[in-house]
Amino acid sequence: MTEAMETITRLANGYIQVKVPLPFSLRWVNAYLLPHGGSWTLVDPGLRAAETQAFWADALAELGIAWKDIESIVLTHYHPDHYGLSGWFQEKTGAPVYMSDVAAAYADRLWGENETFSEELIEAFRQHGYPEELIPGMREHLAGVKDQVSPPPREIRILPEPGQSFGMAGQAWKIVGGEGHAPGHRAFYRPESGVILCGDQVLPRITPNIGWLPGGDPDPLGSYLASLESLLAYDVSLALPGHRDPFPEFSGRVRELIAHHDRRLKQIEDLLAEAESYSSHELCDALFGARISGNSHNHRFAMSETIAHAERLAFSGAALRTCEPDSEAGRSVIRYRKA
Ligand SMILES: [Zn+2]
Ligand SMILES: [Zn+2]
Repeated sequence: MTEAMETITRLANGYIQVKVPLPFSLRWVNAYLLPHGGSWTLVDPGLRAAETQAFWADALAELGIAWKDIESIVLTHYHPDHYGLSGWFQEKTGAPVYMSDVAAAYADRLWGENETFSEELIEAFRQHGYPEELIPGMREHLAGVKDQVSPPPREIRILPEPGQSFGMAGQAWKIVGGEGHAPGHRAFYRPESGVILCGDQVLPRITPNIGWLPGGDPDPLGSYLASLESLLAYDVSLALPGHRDPFPEFSGRVRELIAHHDRRLKQIEDLLAEAESYSSHELCDALFGARISGNSHNHRFAMSETIAHAERLAFSGAALRTCEPDSEAGRSVIRYRKA
């Protein structure tokens, strides 16, 4: 049995889950193939690397699907592990790539020509107390991502707005917006069957990263919690997530995620009660410690997660956000204290 066969799962309604390998702790991203006559819609093809390109050639051969059989490529969000192979797939298939307008703008902001995002993120992390000696590693990590999303799709078609209907594989899906994990994230819900393609907005077993970005949503955790509340209204029989495996207990998982963030916010409030003030970098160390040390990829996500939580507390009035001169850093650093 080849590696590709072990990672292919046939689901109800003829949908196919393909576990596309990832070189980091998430292990794989789920691509989904939805049948339509002899054609297929491909959702979230994965991160671009020589290995994933070879993987897909094997997987499609196992499935008996030719490149030309893929009629459209649909992306839940712009993160490299979902978007990265879309340009390459478009080259191989000629299929249009669909994503939200916001996601397309972010892909361009992060990896387009003359991008300035990497330095904006580094500057923002400095303001949040990120140590100077770790900056070169972070810069190298950010530069490496561009390779994982190249080539970009040449032609992008913009998805309809949330609430509107979108045709995938001959079926009508309702577009579900939801901020907090990635700007412009879209999920796809089919009322007739209760199936939701939920991307990374709701994941089983792991908590989606809350993606604070400079110049983005100032309160992404607040937006994320609002999105989770709105997802409780959906009658879901099967959730097809971006990572781990499909699961039926959607609203239960949504409630667990809300509870997780409530606990994390309480944990930070308790920390703020113990010391005079914390920078996000200090909070990040206290929350994640050894799990992130020496790994710029993990450290970046932990910092975004921590800033998002600290900002939520500041927005809710539970914490005060100040900007104070820091003699060690030789600059002003944003600090949080108990309100
Ligand atoms: Zn994501
Ligand atoms: Zn992902």
